[in-house]
Amino acid sequence: MIRIGRYDRSRRAASPFALLACVLGFATTIDADAGDLPPPRGIAAHSYAWIGPYGPPTRENAGFRMNLGFVAGDDAVAVIDSGYGSDMAEAMLEHIGRVSDAPVRYVINTNSQPHRVLGNAVFEAHGARAIAARDALARLRDDGPAMAAVAARTLGVDDARVVPPGVPGLVVDERLDLDLGGVTLRIVPVGTAHTAGSLVVEAEGDDVVFAGDVLYGGRLLAVLPVGRLDGWVEAYERLRSFDGALFVPGHGQPGPLSAFEHSTRDYLGALLGYMDEAVDEGVPIAEAVDGFDQRSWSDLADFEALARRNAYQAYLEREAASFE
Ligand SMILES: [Zn+2]
Repeated sequence: MIRIGRYDRSRRAASPFALLACVLGFATTIDADAGDLPPPRGIAAHSYAWIGPYGPPTRENAGFRMNLGFVAGDDAVAVIDSGYGSDMAEAMLEHIGRVSDAPVRYVINTNSQPHRVLGNAVFEAHGARAIAARDALARLRDDGPAMAAVAARTLGVDDARVVPPGVPGLVVDERLDLDLGGVTLRIVPVGTAHTAGSLVVEAEGDDVVFAGDVLYGGRLLAVLPVGRLDGWVEAYERLRSFDGALFVPGHGQPGPLSAFEHSTRDYLGALLGYMDEAVDEGVPIAEAVDGFDQRSWSDLADFEALARRNAYQAYLEREAASFE
């Protein structure tokens, strides 16, 4: 395991590794203050998922609070999302080096969120090409420096340790297949969901789909001004074509698509339906936010922090959409 920062005891207790350790009966041998993170784990022949805890980025979690992944072929490795700064990206490179001698040729950004793009520079310095959807470009280019500055401050690291993503080397407009040797990646743009320029990555043959923030499991999703509820629902519906695959969500544990139906699809659908109707009927925003009953999702992590914000943002989005 790689030390990339202190790892809070309560978060660690909830980690999949700790749960497994509990089941296996050696949890007491783990030093919760050691600062080690559970390493990426193999989920199929070539596919690895690095599953983060929930919550916002902090010094304590070293920014590790999302899922990242990589796919190791015979000839090349592709990283799916580059993490929140250079420390995490370098830790990922070390993990990759333990299971593969192939060069890291690609770093794919499933959307333009800071925790998916702020390690790009590390992989690019190792010869990888960054790949993003066309609609993510403007944000990566224009907001990248500010994102990097905020991340450095949040993590309490030197500015030089968080490099803005810049313009990716490869921009995707439509499906792109990458042959990594023994496994082919299918990169599929899915439009505006959690952010504009979202894409999903299927590791064909492994039957794994890295869905990025199109899917949230176990944690309340976040509705953002740069995203779109109706587009997100469409993106989710497109995932049904990957029937029988194992999905790696942006946050939470991997599972079949049905595992995300409640936390993602039902929540988006409920918000969208309720707020469209509220706007339609001229209900004021404060009343609509209060009136949206979210209790069915209150068991999800981060509910308290996000629920009202989501309702508020959803109203604003649907109000703007009503003028289109
Ligand atoms: Zn996310």
